[in-house]
Amino acid sequence: MVALAQTSNDATGFIDKLVIHSPSTGDLLGEAPVMDADEVKAAVARARKAQAAWGALSVKERCSALRAFRHKVAQHADDLARAVSTENGKPVQEALTHDILPFCDLMAYFESRAPKILAPQTISLHLMMQRRSYLHCIPRGVIGIIGPWNFPFSIPVGDAVMALFAGNATVIKPSEVTPLIALKAKALWDEACKDEPRLHPDLMQIVTGRGLTGAAVCTSGVNQVMFTGSVPTGKKVAVACAEQLIPCVLELGGINPAIVTADADLERTAHAILWGAFANSGQVCASISRVYVARPLAEKLTARVVELAGGLVQGDPLDPDIELGAMTFLPQIAIGEAILADTIAQGGRVRCGGTPNGRFFPPTVLDNVEHGWKITQDESFSPLLAFIAVDDVETAIRYANDSDKGLMAYVFAGDEEQGARIAERLEAGTTMVNNAIDSHGAPGTPWQGMKQSGLGQVHSAQGLRDLCQVRHVQTRSWLPWMSKELWWYPYSPKVYGAFLKGVKALWGGGVLDRVLRAVGK
Ligand code: NAD
Repeated sequence: MVALAQTSNDATGFIDKLVIHSPSTGDLLGEAPVMDADEVKAAVARARKAQAAWGALSVKERCSALRAFRHKVAQHADDLARAVSTENGKPVQEALTHDILPFCDLMAYFESRAPKILAPQTISLHLMMQRRSYLHCIPRGVIGIIGPWNFPFSIPVGDAVMALFAGNATVIKPSEVTPLIALKAKALWDEACKDEPRLHPDLMQIVTGRGLTGAAVCTSGVNQVMFTGSVPTGKKVAVACAEQLIPCVLELGGINPAIVTADADLERTAHAILWGAFANSGQVCASISRVYVARPLAEKLTARVVELAGGLVQGDPLDPDIELGAMTFLPQIAIGEAILADTIAQGGRVRCGGTPNGRFFPPTVLDNVEHGWKITQDESFSPLLAFIAVDDVETAIRYANDSDKGLMAYVFAGDEEQGARIAERLEAGTTMVNNAIDSHGAPGTPWQGMKQSGLGQVHSAQGLRDLCQVRHVQTRSWLPWMSKELWWYPYSPKVYGAFLKGVKALWGGGVLDRVLRAVGK
């Protein structure tokens, strides 16, 4: 393994094209243009035109049409997995099972469920029970999607298909670090359009470029932005969307804790933490980075994870035996190294791993760590795992919640019910019990961050509805002969008195409460 020079895809300066090199070999992979605000606006205009016919189809028709794209992706799964692995540096098995497989499942899930999820919903009314209210879902129009480099297929293209199910058109701005896979997805989309006339190539636009291209998406006239990336950029996107008064969904970073109780199953916990910390070289927003473990189990668990980490094979990500590939984004290595150095300087002990070899950051386990150090507060997005021994569950919960982020949390407990009780007290969008990181692969569940980890959600029925304008319609269902409602004009002391009596009788602890008590409510 050789140390690789910084490639131009790591540059933040403005050159007219993105030049993409393989993180693992340094080989030139391809180029993509840097698009300016006018080009982004033109892409949005094309998407909007195509959306008119797409949005007019029934949800069922859209679901059946989108199948053609799922077929293309599944048929080209090997090709796509290799492309993700080559551009991003993750092992090819992870590219297949983390990017392509969950994407196909997400499509199949919403194909069968979107018609029901987006069907009009009746609201049962309370005081105004003579009325009938219902909600109906209307596509928003064009959805701008700004993606990160760690899941270069499943995140931006997964967000795009959800937007398409909802009847929108999409403009994807992939990360400048991994734009080629998005272009490959677009080529498959165009292929699918040839097989399925209800799909239109312009429903999926790709705009490549760096931050300025992403910023241009927010001001291009899109009707909503779905952003996945870092907290600082997410805040800029939120401000830009606020100025446009358009909604945004923000999926941001995490510094995700695991709590391990004394009765946890040692083998399952060790394997889960190993995978949860080191999959994709720790470059997962849901990676486990800090483990608060019951003191009596601490050494046994740490030693087992260290033993397992020692058996992980790192190298050429395209080799199917490889378990850890190369770091995708060169500057991320320096961030990880700085956090590692800080931990060592404070007295943390390196149990395995340590200094990266070029782009290859070995799985690194540290103990003797104290809560409050940088490694427990800052996202390293590297294969760094810290063990912190604690004396009781209350301390573990306090430490786990002592963070400005709240994306994921994990509990490992012998008693799953006790694990769930602990999970309910953790400030995270999702807490998994005796499992690790893969809930993004369950499309029916919400993927969401609390605190600085984000706003809104993707996936789930609610995530799909959020991609629509949910409009409210109210009609009269009975008493249609009444020429006016009781509270319309004219006002008078008599009407005022009647309402006053009603308020007291209904809600003042009198008749209504007696009736409710009588029926046991
Ligand atoms: P990043 O914030 O640097 O970039 C994300 C995207 O934003 C890129 O496409 C970039 O070009 C674009 N961008 C940059 N400046 C912009 C601006 N001013 N306006 C609009 N867009 C702009 O993030 P990254 O380094 O690509 O991704 C890593 C981060 O993403 C980590 O913090 C990770 O935790 C987070 N992440 C979160 C989730 C989640 O679901 N919560 C998933 C994956 C990654």
